[in-house]
Amino acid sequence: MKLVFATNNFNKFREVKELIGPGIDLMNLKDIGCNSDIPEPYQTIEENAREKARVINKQYGYDCFADDTALETEGLRGRPGVYSARYASITTGKKFCTAEQNNEANINILFDQLKNVNNRKARFRTVICLIFKGKEIMFEGMVNGLIIKEKRGNEGFGYDPVFIPDGYNKTFAQMNLSEKNKISHRAKAFNMLADYLLKQCS
Ligand code: IMP
Repeated sequence: MKLVFATNNFNKFREVKELIGPGIDLMNLKDIGCNSDIPEPYQTIEENAREKARVINKQYGYDCFADDTALETEGLRGRPGVYSARYASITTGKKFCTAEQNNEANINILFDQLKNVNNRKARFRTVICLIFKGKEIMFEGMVNGLIIKEKRGNEGFGYDPVFIPDGYNKTFAQMNLSEKNKISHRAKAFNMLADYLLKQCS
């Protein structure tokens, strides 16, 4: 069975392919000849994921799924939320050349905005929209935690160095991937997707 994961992020693709197993012929955007990034123009991660999945399903005719993730902080009424990837460029109007510079700038903006805020509770939330045999199904994975005041650790990406999940005393960036994958928002959502697909294929 062929299924498309609407992503150009090869690391993400490899991880998810591993999770879903060999029973499904999982393809990425490049595999189906789609070399452009699909825009994420909406106000919610649910709408962004749904739109990406619909575009691929409509234009290429494959069953497919798409994901989107947000860091949501209580003290900033959900920000950066749907803008997590582009928080610094949206806030400052500046462009960043590398992913590292962008991540660094995002964290600095978050620190700045939380400067006078006592409530540092936050959560990561991943949603996946699957279009499969004509049905649209959403999956969601979440992890609650705290934004600390300084960066800790060198693993991972994005906001990992400043996020301590509840029940732990280290950041995501101080965990190796297998440790993070036991509790992460993304792993939870993709495990639900994998379970669903395995049931459909058995
Ligand atoms: P995406 O939808 O997976 O591309 O995630 C959007 C943005 O959220 C990323 O560019 C990161 O800034 C942030 N993000 C998503 N997942 C994680 C994570 O596991 N750790 C840290 N930051 C993340």
